[in-house]
This record gives sequence, C-alpha cells and structure tokens, in this order.
Amino acid sequence: MAASLKAKIAEVFDEPGCDKNQGKSEKERKKGCTKQLSPGAAAGGCAFDGAKIALQPIVDVAHLVHGPIACEGNSWDNRHSFSSGADTYRTGFTTDINELDVVYGGEKRLFKSCREIIEKYDPPAIFVYQTCVTALIGDDIEAVCKRASEKFGKPVIPVNAPGFAGPKNLGNKLGAEALLDYVIGTEEPETTTQYDINIIGEYNLSGELWQIKPLLDALGIRILSCISGDGRYHEVASSHRAKVNMMVCSKSMINVATKMEKKYGIPYFEGSFYGIGDMSDTLRQISKLLVKQGADAELLDRTEALIAAEEKRAYERIQAYKPRLQGKRVLLITGGVKSWSVVAALQEAGMEIVGTSVKKSTKEDKERIKEIMGEDAHMIDDMSPREMYKMLKDARADIMLSGGRSQFVALKAKMPWLDINQERHYAYGGYEGMVTLVNEIDKALANPVWKAVRLPAPWDGAEMIPADTAPEMCMPQPVREAGIVAREHALNEGREAAAHAH
Ligand code: SF4
Repeated sequence: MAASLKAKIAEVFDEPGCDKNQGKSEKERKKGCTKQLSPGAAAGGCAFDGAKIALQPIVDVAHLVHGPIACEGNSWDNRHSFSSGADTYRTGFTTDINELDVVYGGEKRLFKSCREIIEKYDPPAIFVYQTCVTALIGDDIEAVCKRASEKFGKPVIPVNAPGFAGPKNLGNKLGAEALLDYVIGTEEPETTTQYDINIIGEYNLSGELWQIKPLLDALGIRILSCISGDGRYHEVASSHRAKVNMMVCSKSMINVATKMEKKYGIPYFEGSFYGIGDMSDTLRQISKLLVKQGADAELLDRTEALIAAEEKRAYERIQAYKPRLQGKRVLLITGGVKSWSVVAALQEAGMEIVGTSVKKSTKEDKERIKEIMGEDAHMIDDMSPREMYKMLKDARADIMLSGGRSQFVALKAKMPWLDINQERHYAYGGYEGMVTLVNEIDKALANPVWKAVRLPAPWDGAEMIPADTAPEMCMPQPVREAGIVAREHALNEGREAAAHAH
C-alpha cells in the first residue's frame, strides 16, 4: 500500500469527533474499526464503493473510475440520489483498463480519458477514483490528475480509496479527505450571509433534502452547500464560508466537520432529519448555533413558531391514519438513529413496536429507545433471518420495516415489508417524510396481494404423484407421449450401437 494512502488511513482513524475511536488505545485505534466477518455474512461494499457513494451525489462533475469496468458497473447509480438540475453524475465514466494496461500501466489511458471527458462534456471538475487493480499495478493517479489539471485548466481531483484499503465506511471518509485536500476552500461564494450553513453527510436519497429545504427557506436559512446530496462543485469548493455545519447522523463524513472546524472555525453539531421530534431538535440546534455566530436572536422565536405549526400539521395528518393502523405491530430492523427516531410517529398512528434492532446503535440510541418505548423495549441485538422469519410467520408482527437485504425473509413469510434504508424509493425526511412513511405503511398493509398469496395453492391437497414417476407424467398428454416415444427411440439406438461395437 502506498505510503501516502497508509498515512491517510491512519489519519482517518485518529478521528477526534468519534467517541468510540477516542476511547481506544493507540494500538487498537491503528487497527481501525473493521470487524472480522463471520462465515456466510455479506461483506458489504469496498472502500472505493464507499468513496463513490459519498461523492457521486455531486451532480455536475464527471466521476471517472480508473479500473476494470466491473468496479464502475457495481457501484453505478445504485442509490436514488436525486438532482435538481445537472445530471452528469448519472453517466458512468470508466477507463475500463485491460490486460495490456495491467502490463504497461494505465496512466496514459487515464490522461486521455480526462481529455475526452473535458472535450465532450466540459464539467466543472473531474473526480478520478482509484481501484484495486490500478493501485496494485502502481498507477500514480495523483500525478496524472495534477498534470491533467495543469494541461486542461480544470480541477481533476484524485480520490485515493482503492477497494482493498478497507470497508465502505472507511471509503466514505477517504472520499471526504479528497474534498478536504483538493476542493473545499478553493473558491469563494458570490455572496455570504449570517444565515449560511452546510449540511454534511446528506445524500438527497429519493429527494429527502427537498423535504428539509422548504423549512430552512421559511426561516431564511441558506444551504451554502450540501455535501454531497444535489451538490454542485462550486458550492462545495466555497463551503468554507458557512457559519455553521450540520453533520447528519450517519457520521460517514465526520472528518469534514471536524477538520472544517479546526481550519475555518466553523462549529458543527450532529443532527437527524428522521422523526418529528428530531427534525424539531435539528432546527433548534441550527438556529441556536447561527445566533451564536452572529445571526439575529429573533431567529429563535421564528424557529419555535415554525416547529409548533409543522408538528401540529404533521401529527394531525398522521392521526387520520389511526383508525386503520391502530394496534398494528411493527418490527423495525434498521439500527442507528432510525431505530428510535421513527418510533414516535408510528406510535402516534396507533401502531405498536414489537421490536427494534440495535446492532448499529450507539449507547445514546439505546437510552433513547428506553425513554420512548419504556424499560421493556424489545431491543434486538442481532436477529438472524431465521428468527425474523419465525417472528413474522408466527404473526407476532404485522409488518417489517428494514433494508432491502431482509425483504425476502418477509416475502417468504408472506408478510408486508417496507424498505426504509438507503435503496428506498420514497423520501422519509422531516415532517413531510414521517407522514409519507405512515402512508406507505398503510398502503403496504392494505395491499390485496397479501390476501392472494396467503390462499392455499391450487395444487395443495391434489393427488400426490409418486416420487419415482418419470417427469413426463407431469406433462400434458400429447407432449408426454411424444417424450416417451423419443426416449424409447434413443434407448433403442443406443442399444444397437453398443451391440455393433461388440
Ligand atoms: S474491491 Fe476492488 S476490484 Fe472490487 S469493486 Fe472494489 S475497487 Fe473494484
């Protein structure tokens, strides 16, 4: 592993904003956070995948993957990160290296690819992603990007996060490091105000950012840059002029928040857009920090007024679902902040949470679960698919909310399921998002397909066919007869051939 990459990884692991990391000894910290996989467990994405997920939502730049075509194929557009304008980010660019490049090096091909992209698409910048193969053959993407930037007069940014460096989560942070090293602070915004903020670690999946933006607009707060959902290169490059940074719960880009605080003196806080109470807390935090940074104190009153109106409106709309959803039991398999932040909204609609997973939750998350659901809250540390299936099959839950990977468990148990993780198709952010979530649960529960799939199959109870019956017996009469004749014929031919051979 190149020395610079090693040093970068060590730097990322020494993260002051991560309590877990700071609680470790120096030796332990160096080992990183990757857990040994248990046999049979899915490995998840690689570091390159993580970097791509973190940066691809910058919509107007060209994302060029330097490696074999499969790396780009695997990661292309697999999340629903939306754009309000430019769509260059949805074109998959790759150098598609081949065996000859592996022997002679792929640097020339990379340089030519940059030229071609600039000539054909003219994006404000190109992000070049390193992958396993090109890192192993020693392609120096930093040097090529530097040369291409000088030659073409455009920022060409190296993102050095080859897959073998570690898991997806590390890749998120290495992608963020590329922004810190080459992008943030390189341009100036046209204007600045006392109400400018950055949102870090929000990817605008299914358009969630657009559920938040109207609330901030109503308060006169401007998103100077969202890193990286629906982001624009120039916005990210001038994001160092914001007054406050909001770090979205996932911590995937915590290094951007801590380093911007250190370098530019921008305070940050961690907040979440999921759940009604959380959305309100987030708005309060933003306003409080902005006032601390010099905004007019009347912002606090306006924020409280907006929160009161929005909460009332959301709860009224959720209440309308109560007659249909009262008493329905929900199994929540998600983890992190969502393990508790959506609970209040579901309870408001009359639903009962029979269990919530806490595999990826922090100590504080668990405390919050107890606060909301009481001491007997059913926290599931690590539920195997078999247990999930049993729980659904025994009808101890009416619906499961989880990520896409668990969907087949629910479908096998013939129970409704709703995707609430990153591949979801609906936006569940802010007040509006919680109403959408309750509406989607209602739709999933009332879908007539469940009645149909639970009916006994037409062949159930039909006369059993003995196990040794030839397959033709299951076919319609003429096909069966033709099959039997053909088989007899082939057998006879085989016997004759064998007799001649003797
Ligand atoms: S592990 Fe390496 S080869 Fe596989 S997708 Fe990631 S970068 Fe590409």
